[in-house]
Amino acid sequence: MEEKATVEDMAIFVCPHCGKEMDKWTIPAASSWDAEFHYVCFNDECVYFVTGWQWMREKYQANASYRHCVDPATGCSRPLPVWSADALKDQIIK
Ligand SMILES: [Zn+2]
Repeated sequence: MEEKATVEDMAIFVCPHCGKEMDKWTIPAASSWDAEFHYVCFNDECVYFVTGWQWMREKYQANASYRHCVDPATGCSRPLPVWSADALKDQIIK
């Protein structure tokens, strides 16, 4: 069965890496993204986020990671770089 629903109709976005509900997140004004908010997985135990630390250290010698991020307008996902576990959490829309 095929349902014709756009991603914007979906009330909840779920992270494909950990299965947790994603948070609505305000995009910083300085960014070039053409959207008001994205959905981001802020689960600190998310595999994507956890393995990101190791990957960034090995590839770039950087103490950083990234979180799974989805643009609800397009449904496209991208990595959202973070420098700490609490980074960007103050922009979560409750
Ligand atoms: Zn996740």
